[in-house]
Amino acid sequence: MARPVARRRSVVSRGEDRMQIYNMIVLALLAAVYFLFLITLLHWRHRIGIGVFITVLGTMHFMETYLASAFYVHVPMATISPGSAVLFAGKLLMVLLLYVKEDAATVRQLIYGLLVGNVMIFVLGQVLNLQIAPVTADGAPADERLLRELGILMMWGTSLLYIDSIAIILLYERLGGLLGRGTLPRFFLAGAMVLTFDQIGFFGLLHWVTDAPPSVFWGGLAAKMVMNALFVAMTGLYLHFFRSNVPVMASKGIGDIFNDLTYREKYQDLLARTGRDALTGVLDRGRLEFDGPELVREALRQGQGASLMILDADRFKEINDRHGHLKGDEVLRDIASALNGSLRRNDRVYRFGGEEFVVICRDLGPGPACEAAERMRGRIGAIATLGEGRTVTVSIGVATAPEDGTTLLELIAVADRRLYRAKAEGRNRVVGD
Ligand code: GH3
Ligand code: MG
Ligand code: MG
Repeated sequence: MARPVARRRSVVSRGEDRMQIYNMIVLALLAAVYFLFLITLLHWRHRIGIGVFITVLGTMHFMETYLASAFYVHVPMATISPGSAVLFAGKLLMVLLLYVKEDAATVRQLIYGLLVGNVMIFVLGQVLNLQIAPVTADGAPADERLLRELGILMMWGTSLLYIDSIAIILLYERLGGLLGRGTLPRFFLAGAMVLTFDQIGFFGLLHWVTDAPPSVFWGGLAAKMVMNALFVAMTGLYLHFFRSNVPVMASKGIGDIFNDLTYREKYQDLLARTGRDALTGVLDRGRLEFDGPELVREALRQGQGASLMILDADRFKEINDRHGHLKGDEVLRDIASALNGSLRRNDRVYRFGGEEFVVICRDLGPGPACEAAERMRGRIGAIATLGEGRTVTVSIGVATAPEDGTTLLELIAVADRRLYRAKAEGRNRVVGD
């Protein structure tokens, strides 16, 4: 008797295994269809308007919440809702993609739209609950429980979504500092972290409202991680295929392909490119006036002190007169590259005027600042040459905060006086006191 039973059980469980694997494949299909629709709308947003993408994404929120409340499927080792595993994970990725492709101002409209829309559904649900004896179309009693649950789940889900959306963007930005411009690893990690947080929060309420067992939590978490990976992989494919045709980008790797910078990165990029001196590539006078006061203040606040050096090329007019202005320009570029080569991470070099440069270094103190200036002078002599063994020399005035002053202007005034002394004492030297 025992044998046929055992055989039947294994047949059943094999059948169940197959069914669960089949369900998993259908989930992957659901993810692919979801992604395909939304990425197409996002891709064509400049033709059809971003409103289409945002509206469709918003519409999906209702289905997602309904599924999370009432539709679960068995997959290997878990019972999960396609609503939270596929639609929610997908939506977060879309929020992030929208942020990266557009900017914070656009994604804010989506987030606030979802928030207000869901609050509205909740409020309308409360009003509907005031109806007496609602029925379905064929006269059976209406499912009031569903309306009630949907209301609570939606409110909670919406609040979480609000936090999640902001968190995924912030994490993406933060991870940029650690992982650089590698977009896909940043997408994956930010997605995994936020989905884990969300699973904890959403399951808490689901457990309370619908008495969902812990297996729903673990199953849901695993499913979200799998879907996160799947969505990021699809994003990678999309970026690869829709960028590889662009000639300028063709030689770049998949991480680099994502050249669209985020709003903040765009701003930083613009900032990095503006305020540069066109001839030498170092920061210009405007940037000195903009950054300098804060650099000095910040160094003093951290108790490090800051040193400022003004360099002036010696007898530069003669160089121009003898070798021509183009040679003079080349010498200026050589001086800039010599200075760049002797900077530490937090040091800055600016072109102050014609053949004058300002360098700001942190945490040196008067003595070491003069030594650093001497090294710069030596380096310039080695790099900037005029032919026939003649080299370019510079005179340098050095001032240090807090010893010589505590503001940028005070430091410039002191360093400038010392520079003139260096000139008067015969040029090609550093004066630091
Ligand atoms: P000193 O040793 O006293 O500093 O003498 P100097 O000749 O260097 O001083 P001066 O200030 O008289 O001359 C600076 C010259 O720098 C004058 C100007 O023509 C030249 N100059 C300023 N900007 C540029 C530039 O962008 N390119 C070139 N080639 N020359 C420049
Ligand atoms: Mg000068
Ligand atoms: Mg000069």
